Amino acid sequence: MSEQLPAAFIGHGNPMNALSHNRYTDAWRAFADSFERPRAILVVSAHWYVNITAVTSMTLPRTIHDFYGFPQTLFDVQYPAPGDPDLARRVVDVVEPTYVGLDADSWGIDHGTWSVLVHMYPNADVPVVQLSINAELPFDYHFALGAKLNDLRSEGVLIVGSGNVVHNLRLVDRHLPGLGTDWAHRFDDDVREIMTGDAAELGRARDHADYTLAAPTPDHFLPLAYVAGLSAAAGRPARTLIDGYEMGSLSMTAYEIAGSATR
Ligand code: ZN
Repeated sequence: MSEQLPAAFIGHGNPMNALSHNRYTDAWRAFADSFERPRAILVVSAHWYVNITAVTSMTLPRTIHDFYGFPQTLFDVQYPAPGDPDLARRVVDVVEPTYVGLDADSWGIDHGTWSVLVHMYPNADVPVVQLSINAELPFDYHFALGAKLNDLRSEGVLIVGSGNVVHNLRLVDRHLPGLGTDWAHRFDDDVREIMTGDAAELGRARDHADYTLAAPTPDHFLPLAYVAGLSAAAGRPARTLIDGYEMGSLSMTAYEIAGSATR
């Protein structure tokens, strides 16, 4: 396969989006329907934020319910997509000399991944591999690692970063459904200017006056660093797939890096 698939950053928001149909989940589905079916999907999820860089290499990854306080129906969700050990080994090769460990049995498919993929590929028939976010390493490492993954896009692999540009659970306000605070808007807008202009500048967002409010911990922001790296490597700016806010302190903005496939 020589056509390059798109790549995307998805703002996944509340885990209950897995069971909802709303304008965000509709946009995720429409995005998946806009290009050829991938051979496999590589996901960088905010929810695999650990002290090592690893890639899942099992043939049958388990569905992980990594949350609490949600209805049983959400715990009942299974996403039985197969793994892809060959792709896992290819990831190890393509990022050399950066070290990536093969994870045969610790992780699987977490809700940052399946709450989105249940909408994009509801039949769970495209193999899924996850790449962890190494919490010990700086922003520039993640940006550079994302750039190194760009070759996979012409090998039939769809790369998805799943997080949220603005993600502050401590400041969630249930009286603000569908709304964002002023600082959430300021940060999300400025990040969008970077992503749709020169994504190589994304590191600057950490100097933004509202960064510590928008990303009090970096786990949901860093998947965007991978997609910014892909954007820079491909020489293509991001395009906004969908945007919006939830409960004041979450932004749902999603970005696409266009592929070369005809559309
Ligand atoms: Zn999350």
